[in-house]
Amino acid sequence: MPETGKKFFITTPLYRADSRPHIGHAYTALAADVLARHIRARGTEVFFQTGADGHGEDAARTAAGRGSRPGEWAEEISADFERAWKLLGVNYDRFVRTTDPDIERGVRDAFGRMLESGDIYPGRYEGAYCPLCDDFFREGELAEGGLCPVHKKKPEPAEGGVYLFRLSKYGKALLEHYAANPGFLAPAGRAGAIAGLVGAGLRDIPVSRRAPALGVPVPSDPDHTIHSRFGALLGYLAGAGWNAGGGTRDFLSAWPPDAQLVGEEAFRLHAVTWPAALMSLGLPLPARVYAHGRWTMEGGGKHGARGGAVSPAEAIKEYGADTLRYFLFRETPFGLDGHFSAAALARRYDSELAVGLGGLFSRVIELAGEHLDSRLPAKPEEASAKTFARLRAIDADIAADIEALAFGPALDRVHGAVEELNRGIEAVKPRALAAKDPAALKSFLNDMVWCLRLVAGWVYPFMPDASARMQMLMSIGGAETGGVEPQRAPPLFPRKP
Ligand SMILES: [Zn+2]
Repeated sequence: MPETGKKFFITTPLYRADSRPHIGHAYTALAADVLARHIRARGTEVFFQTGADGHGEDAARTAAGRGSRPGEWAEEISADFERAWKLLGVNYDRFVRTTDPDIERGVRDAFGRMLESGDIYPGRYEGAYCPLCDDFFREGELAEGGLCPVHKKKPEPAEGGVYLFRLSKYGKALLEHYAANPGFLAPAGRAGAIAGLVGAGLRDIPVSRRAPALGVPVPSDPDHTIHSRFGALLGYLAGAGWNAGGGTRDFLSAWPPDAQLVGEEAFRLHAVTWPAALMSLGLPLPARVYAHGRWTMEGGGKHGARGGAVSPAEAIKEYGADTLRYFLFRETPFGLDGHFSAAALARRYDSELAVGLGGLFSRVIELAGEHLDSRLPAKPEEASAKTFARLRAIDADIAADIEALAFGPALDRVHGAVEELNRGIEAVKPRALAAKDPAALKSFLNDMVWCLRLVAGWVYPFMPDASARMQMLMSIGGAETGGVEPQRAPPLFPRKP
């Protein structure tokens, strides 16, 4: 947790406008949102930044293929992302468009500062350039036959005269930083490969293109444009309020980022180039850069940031955003590759949400209505709230899991608690107990109501809408005297025919 007064700063990539939003983009944004909601709910102010990058050759080509101008396409795709995030409940604070004037200015100024210091210099580059990746490759990095390793297509020879970033200068400092900050790159499996790569020696990298129409002009050399991938890194700074004067008050209260989430294909850029650029600018590095895995889709290939288009809107049409959010983080450990299948989603929905969590809430609300004189208890009764006391002890574990981006283990704990509560109700046989010992049943239900209030808080980062409905049903926040009637409501997760 950051020190007092500093905002907890979370970023997703500034997504490249070479495709409409799909599950790969959504996964990063949802993970960032889960973390952001958790941190906010615990009382720390959050700055959550996401966005889209309308610059670059791939965006321009996609625009041309659709018969629109790059600017129009960037607008359209940004609006698409913002709509998708709304639909998914991604509650960001800033949506950065790299084509916004304040972002372009910040990117140009940061680049200019690195030019002045000599860390960016005009030079020559021998290598290949894949316009579909909008990225440069050296000979050793190409696939067999000299093809782009991603697209397996013949790249173009890279133009000779470019601006280069003196990355080679920062190899030692990067290795020292990795060693001194073991949590900086995560998960650990991916981090090891990065240290190996840096240890093998870094070369200076091209950070411009001779393509004036495609982005922010290089200061004092308008024939060159800042390469979009490098520009998007500097866009993190500009979006947060960095400027040539040092930065806005917002920037000073948020920088450095506490968690920067990226897909695995962007890890190298964020684990090597990005911290080196920050070192060059004399700025503090993020606390953590985390690369998650990819989702494979049913009947299709990989859908990372460079994959095909499965719109989040399609995926949530049938089950709602909460269910998709729950499924993505429950099905596969964050950090590993996942496989998306409608059957797996339906199975989890039926057994864990409709029957498990939803069933638990319906039963307790109904029993509370019948046996608690239509009054929800305002305080857990110390003597009888044994289950509540036990569950409350895992609250800190769930928080620690989420803060470590271990979303799967957090949901395992929630699921385990829900199962335990359902088993507890089966064992007590409430209707029989009501006849035999009404006081014991009341005491049991008091305990259950408080357990459910706890569960409603736990699921909030993952399923904000369902949590809000649970909290309303359990009259959280409005029941200081316990004088609130349990609300009858439709099931949280209706059974599917
Ligand atoms: Zn490529």
